[in-house]
Amino acid sequence: REPAVPVDSWHKGVCRFCGTGCGIMIGVRDGRVVDIKGDEYAHNRGRLCVKGVLNREILYVRDRALYPMIRRNGRLERASWDEAMDLVARRFREAIDRYGPDSVAFYGSGQLFTEESYTANKLFKAGIGTNNVDGNPRLCMASAAAGYISVFGKDEPLGCYEDIDAATCFFITGSNTADCHPIVWERVLDRKRSRPETVIIVVDPRRTRTARHADYHLPIRPGTDVALYNAMIYEFIRNGFIDQDMVENYLTFREGNAPRTFEDLKRHVAQYAPERVASICGIDARLIEEVAYLFAASEATMSIWTMGLNQQAQGTAANRLINAMHLLTGHIGRPGATPFSLTGQPNAGGGVRDTGALAHALPNGRVVTNPKHRAEMEDLWGVPRGRISPKPGYHAVAMFEAMRRGDLKCVLIMGTNPAQSLPHADRYREAMARTFLVVADAVYPTETTQFADVFLPTAMWVEKGGVYSQSERRYHLVPKLVDPPGEARSDLEILIELADRLGYGELIKARTPEAIWDEWRQISAHSPYNFAGITYERLKKERGILWPAPTEDHPGTCRRYVPGEDPMAKGTGRFDFYGRPDGRAVVFLEHQKPPSDPRTDAYPLTLVTGRVYEHWHTLTLTGKLKELEDITTDFLVVHPRDAHRYGIRDGEPVLVESRRGRAVLQARVSTDITPGVVFAPFHSPEALVNRVVNPTVDPISKEPAFKESAVRIRPVSPA
Ligand code: SF4
Repeated sequence: REPAVPVDSWHKGVCRFCGTGCGIMIGVRDGRVVDIKGDEYAHNRGRLCVKGVLNREILYVRDRALYPMIRRNGRLERASWDEAMDLVARRFREAIDRYGPDSVAFYGSGQLFTEESYTANKLFKAGIGTNNVDGNPRLCMASAAAGYISVFGKDEPLGCYEDIDAATCFFITGSNTADCHPIVWERVLDRKRSRPETVIIVVDPRRTRTARHADYHLPIRPGTDVALYNAMIYEFIRNGFIDQDMVENYLTFREGNAPRTFEDLKRHVAQYAPERVASICGIDARLIEEVAYLFAASEATMSIWTMGLNQQAQGTAANRLINAMHLLTGHIGRPGATPFSLTGQPNAGGGVRDTGALAHALPNGRVVTNPKHRAEMEDLWGVPRGRISPKPGYHAVAMFEAMRRGDLKCVLIMGTNPAQSLPHADRYREAMARTFLVVADAVYPTETTQFADVFLPTAMWVEKGGVYSQSERRYHLVPKLVDPPGEARSDLEILIELADRLGYGELIKARTPEAIWDEWRQISAHSPYNFAGITYERLKKERGILWPAPTEDHPGTCRRYVPGEDPMAKGTGRFDFYGRPDGRAVVFLEHQKPPSDPRTDAYPLTLVTGRVYEHWHTLTLTGKLKELEDITTDFLVVHPRDAHRYGIRDGEPVLVESRRGRAVLQARVSTDITPGVVFAPFHSPEALVNRVVNPTVDPISKEPAFKESAVRIRPVSPA
């Protein structure tokens, strides 16, 4: 199409919103981004969703942060960078000297560039000497990561978007793909159009836009996925769909840490026959039998999931079982046959999971509790042995609990808004008020800046440049094309200056995004996450590269663990699960547990939260666009039966209360939700529905159970 205004030059970039990671062409003129279009040569084939189209507008929203601020007499007031960084460094240094390195923390984001998360991780773990590094990916992807790590020994999905074009059955569970990853969904629909017999199965308590297109919709009761997947495995066994070669040569079985056998698995899932599970999940037994048959009998089944599965108290168990369903039926490692989690943010995968910018982790799949891993990273980072603490730091929710207790004195928050996005928000807002908080963000104000002692304005997206990695392990380059507004600086510049002022400048030898990337990719060469061959030069020319890619002539890897395709896989067999010491993937026996926030007579409904198509996270960006101002997000979807029972009328205000807090929303009475379940988007800062939400975390991944909050509802009485 013709650009809206004349463009001087077009540049390749990547959308800065969801983890689909669509390729974008960015038109620049006179130092401003003036146009955007989808890149026809990228996986999105020229398509963009509404947020992608608005990538230009978000650079120029009102409320872009322009200068640093320091809180004086209760108010944030303009300050110079020198004053602000002096104060930040002094308070961090005082806390470290007086209370030790574990009195400070970094809370980051899946929207930072890889080079930024990598540098923050290195500064805090190898410089300051604390593992208190975590961030918002803990709230969305931690259970998927824990699932992959425990089953395959290494994180990140096995397949790639090309698998969508070859799948004959899509098992979409806990994902409203049509609204939350719209361009992935378009590709699923392309497959359905080109091969109409392709089956789409959707498991979701809501009849979402995704579910409306499904051939089979399973309106599951929230938090009962483990029972459903056990029932499906029971059906695979009963119908003879087990891949015996996989069982004999490529799998081991475990229950917790205890070894088990395939025979144990058979006995275990016998407790979960569909007729027993039907009443637990609220799904007809025949429907479970039918979808289990379709999943197993299809030529190539691809499972797609995201927060609906991850944000549960049994999120890791559910993830392990999805992987198990693929392993047991052999729907893995072939075109179209793969488990495939989607990430929510543009760089939660590469930037946070791969760099190990999490409380328990080190780069490339290493963990702080492993002495060999610590020693490797100490050598690679050039710090003395013993520098990296063996003690895991605080994961996201624990970090804010530590702030409540006064154990954390200073926290740097970058590119995220936890005062709105954490569950049980009021509890952690109080915690932030008690801590010396440094907030770096591209917009001001946010809910979190209310609690900031120092605010630092940041550049975003093409105002700084760096590498993102999206859902399929594809590293893409986002170039720096324009200058940031006012005095804003990149997050990387802020981290480097903090390192210098704290006396760790020697540690950060590489100081530009490209130099840091080079250091990071060379470190990867010492691990199975090898992407040493992905240089900036290649990224400028190619449309992203899927790792592993160990050499500069390696084209990238679509399917992992397959010898001949994955350069890290050895031998000539079907698979080499090289992340595991014995080369075999693990199938876990998992038990359905009672709900983490039980429904009672006092709290008889389950609240689930999620996104709407047009908006992003806590509205700090999309909430400021006039193009989206008519799209409301402060609503509660209630089934007519529940509306009738509790006296709720469509369009009128409704109070939703849990054991933790309350929020007022506008009722939307609709049959698009299962009776007994209500749904609210989490976007609106005014409604702040996270006040209500359950902060229980999965015991392994530490991801909160956003999808399991027991609530009650009533009309808001007229004043
Ligand atoms: Fe951006 Fe995601 Fe939309 Fe693609 S699908 S344009 S990555 S928001």
